[in-house]
Amino acid sequence: MRLRQTDGDAKKQRDKMPEAPDLQVVKEFLQPRIVGRRITAVAERKPLTLRNLVGSPFKTDAVGRQITAIDRKGKLLLIEIGPDRSMIISAMLTGGLQYCGAGTRLMASTIIVLDVDDGMQLRYFDQKRMGQVYYTTPDARGEITRLQAQGPDVLDERLSLDEFKERLRPFRGEIKGVLTRGQAVSGIGNAYADEILFEAKIYPFTKRNRLSGADVERLHRAVYETPARAVETLRERVGANIHRKVRDFLKVHGKGGSPCPVCGAQITAITANRRETNYCRSCQPGTLFRR
Ligand SMILES: [Zn+2]
Repeated sequence: MRLRQTDGDAKKQRDKMPEAPDLQVVKEFLQPRIVGRRITAVAERKPLTLRNLVGSPFKTDAVGRQITAIDRKGKLLLIEIGPDRSMIISAMLTGGLQYCGAGTRLMASTIIVLDVDDGMQLRYFDQKRMGQVYYTTPDARGEITRLQAQGPDVLDERLSLDEFKERLRPFRGEIKGVLTRGQAVSGIGNAYADEILFEAKIYPFTKRNRLSGADVERLHRAVYETPARAVETLRERVGANIHRKVRDFLKVHGKGGSPCPVCGAQITAITANRRETNYCRSCQPGTLFRR
């Protein structure tokens, strides 16, 4: 692992991958608006992002079908299209959804456009085209490994403390990586992992098997409380602007160089494994090089 101390203002590489709280409010916003709507047209403006597992062209296959549900699993959004079709969206760092009237100017990064029968559009955009959108049948879902490998969802499938300990047990790496990988519990990415570890007062680079019983208890509480609380804030802040990722209310993530809201010490920003980690050295004590 390569580590680099970063200056607090170096926010260019800020990780904006949608995580469970972000996608939860997207889901809640879209549910009453697109479920029951019929797809009247589709456009794929750029190739390669859409992975079609259906075996017939997306354009002809999707038109005329009805959207029957919208769901979320971890960091994935699932649009169910009847009968027997779904779109599974993995937005990664620069992707997102936009809901707007057909006349709204297209963003340059718009990749997929679905027209529905009330004149509105659901658009997938992705500046760096790192995300994937799968168009699939129920049978072909098994080919989407990132859908299969996910642990219980951090918002919808709360584990007891004992169950949580069991889920963590097979993983021996640094706790932040264990949380973001999504196999122990799903839906946590770089931003909410920083927030959860700050709430739990745990140094992000602590190896999982070095956590004390009290650490795991605090972690369990924070894993379920922090994202759920964020959903309440995001519901108010995001509204119809589902294409915006609101992160400014977070306590430490993206706040390198600012004072810690608990103790006033300067929040640390460190780049490890090409992503920034923010934590408070005094609230989350630990030693980086003792490994
Ligand atoms: Zn602090």
